[in-house]
Amino acid sequence: MHKPGTDPLDVQMTDVLCDYCHREWTETIPMIEGHHGSCVCGRCLSTAYAAVVHGGIDDGHGAFKCRMCLEERSDASWASPIDSEALVCLRCIKLAARALEKDPDLGWHRPEAAADA
Ligand SMILES: [Zn+2]
Ligand SMILES: [Zn+2]
Repeated sequence: MHKPGTDPLDVQMTDVLCDYCHREWTETIPMIEGHHGSCVCGRCLSTAYAAVVHGGIDDGHGAFKCRMCLEERSDASWASPIDSEALVCLRCIKLAARALEKDPDLGWHRPEAAADA
């Protein structure tokens, strides 16, 4: 999301907030942009990935609108701890994880499963 009052023609890094934790985008935490300015930061993505992919969490309970792709989804999803309306679907979690890992400068890696045999 963008901060209220952000000039759409001159968006600064600090105008961009993670939709899931409302942190500003900084050099130290990568950010992935979804549709229409929705964003998820690397930290939330790690949490979401671990929860949904490894933990089997599904906060959407079968039918929800994903904040990142803005589609009605029925796959597993993760909800922001501070905004239960902000959900991200499994597909977007995987896409975002792949996108972040593509850039070695970011140093982001998807979390490993705790007990992966
Ligand atoms: Zn975040
Ligand atoms: Zn999605």
